[in-house]
Amino acid sequence: MERRGSVMRQDYIDTQRQRHGRKAVAVLPIHYPKEILTAMDLLAVEVWGPPGPARGHAAAQIQPYVCAIVRNALAFLAAGGEQHVDAVLFPHTCDSLQGVASLAADFGALRRPTLQYLHPKGGRRDSTLAFATAELRRLAETLARLTGHALDDAKLSGAIALHLEIHALRRRLLTERRHLPASDVELYRCLRRGEFLWPADHRAELEALSARLTKDAAAVAVPLMVSGYVPEPRTLLEALDRLGARIVADDYAAVGRRVLRQPVVPEADPWRTLATLAFAGPPCPTFGTPLGERLSYLDGLFTASKARGLVIHVVKFCDPELFQVPALQAHFAAKNAPVLVLETELEEQLSGQTQTRLEAFVEMVGNRGVS
Ligand code: SF4
Repeated sequence: MERRGSVMRQDYIDTQRQRHGRKAVAVLPIHYPKEILTAMDLLAVEVWGPPGPARGHAAAQIQPYVCAIVRNALAFLAAGGEQHVDAVLFPHTCDSLQGVASLAADFGALRRPTLQYLHPKGGRRDSTLAFATAELRRLAETLARLTGHALDDAKLSGAIALHLEIHALRRRLLTERRHLPASDVELYRCLRRGEFLWPADHRAELEALSARLTKDAAAVAVPLMVSGYVPEPRTLLEALDRLGARIVADDYAAVGRRVLRQPVVPEADPWRTLATLAFAGPPCPTFGTPLGERLSYLDGLFTASKARGLVIHVVKFCDPELFQVPALQAHFAAKNAPVLVLETELEEQLSGQTQTRLEAFVEMVGNRGVS
């Protein structure tokens, strides 16, 4: 299924190139200024794996204790995936991705230009704001060498406005989850198509889904919050749907953690807006957000959504996420909230053992009452 998805993305990339003359950039997780790519008419195609066994020999160059995201992405790109794009962008998400970004070209795994983006860590201060602005401008200059033209400020303002609209639509779908008569499979399919669609196409699909929001909220047998990395394998969502559970609060790095929870009003200077946006997202371990701040945010999300259980779904060997798992467990256990920790390896299917644990957890949460 995922392989069909890859083929479909290749077709989409090729169509964008033929019809609109758009070059494509493969982008590794997690955070990056997509507005710049949009303003420069570059199609961003995110690479979250893909799931399943690594699809190429380059995986052998990676130590076995490195996460499957890095291993699979490198193998996929080196085994031909990069042929469809014009460059590969590595955000400085973690040491593993940073290491691959530095080494991939050196050991001949990637032939396309590799670009790097260093997002600011720590809170917003004059110094970090200045750093973010300089880094954003540096990325735009690097991309200009790919497109052959400099970034136009008016186009950047337009792209920022478009992405703010997308944030608003995604925010509404996530916060009004109980008002959407759609399965989690359907909702997440739509949200995750934003990983490769041209943003205006993604906005149209989000608008179509938002039009189905109802005035009244539906009763949910087992409302859950999920915190973690990426909703793979997709059979996890199928299992939750089948068990009568619903994700009413999302803190997946690939999904809810990249949605602005508060509207941001653009300033006259698009670069200043862009720098502001670099600090405006929900707390993320890869931003160096203080743990207390993140716990407080997740606590608020849990309470506002009336979730009754928390699933922490992390990728094996993902240090940034795993370091904070014990604190999350302790915090929600103190609230008497059931917590299930799933550590997966980007498999194509949910293992029988994980499925059994999920079933037992959903049943246990369901037995504690209805909301
Ligand atoms: S899963 Fe974790 S360790 Fe792997 S690339 Fe993402 S942040 Fe880095």
